[in-house]
Amino acid sequence: MTAVLRAEGLWKSFGEQPVLRGVSLELSRHEVVALIGASGSGKSTLLRCLNLLEGIDDGRILLGDQDISDPRVDADRVRSRLGTVFQSYNLFPHLSVLDNVTLASRVVRRMPRRDAEERGRALLDRVGLGAFAGEHPDRLSGGQQQRAALARALATDPDVLLLDEITSALDPELVGEVLGLVRQLAEDGATILMATHEMAFARDVAHRVVFLDEGRVLEEGPPAQVFGAPREARTREFLTRFR
Ligand code: ADP
Ligand code: MG
Repeated sequence: MTAVLRAEGLWKSFGEQPVLRGVSLELSRHEVVALIGASGSGKSTLLRCLNLLEGIDDGRILLGDQDISDPRVDADRVRSRLGTVFQSYNLFPHLSVLDNVTLASRVVRRMPRRDAEERGRALLDRVGLGAFAGEHPDRLSGGQQQRAALARALATDPDVLLLDEITSALDPELVGEVLGLVRQLAEDGATILMATHEMAFARDVAHRVVFLDEGRVLEEGPPAQVFGAPREARTREFLTRFR
């Protein structure tokens, strides 16, 4: 079976500092993979390379059978197939929630406004924000903003969701509603690669856990194995911080 998304030997440096050192990773359709690792291990850089916000120095990225690391690809179009949500500051503040959700469909996919809005409203209903379509993002709580950002990421019906610590900037009481939505998306069959420090959630929802250490995949496997019986000393050491 072909992977939905496959990274092969990715290298990335900032100046003299190598941040990704030969990262290979594969996502199958409907698979949920949790990317864990210490702060600075390269999780965000990896996700940003995968959706072409950063260029790579070496390696290859395949989305389906398309080599998206080829510099000739249309990056906006590729990004519309990789729905991405970051830690914070996701939404355009000057646009309504509905316009945030429909923007990529209208501009990148050239969907007629009426169709895009119909789909956008359905997505906002799905994330529990149907009543907020006309509001500006600053009227929403942090949790609601992240749910709107998830709706926006889903609007172009992406092949993969890339989630970069989407609950870390939230007040603790707002984390649950966002994780609950991610869980729902996973149960509905979304293909998800998520960088996270929510270990209990990763253990529960992910099919596979990838531990990134200093820009390398040091260990990966089913959550029960990586969390329950990590092979590498550095994985064990990292995980004790969450006990
Ligand atoms: P993580 O998400 O796991 O915390 P990052 O990918 O954000 O890790 O960062 C990995 C390393 O790359 C860090 O040392 C960070 O300082 C560095 N880094 C990330 N982005 C940049 C950038 N745009 N310019 C220079 N260094 C960067
Ligand atoms: Mg990060």
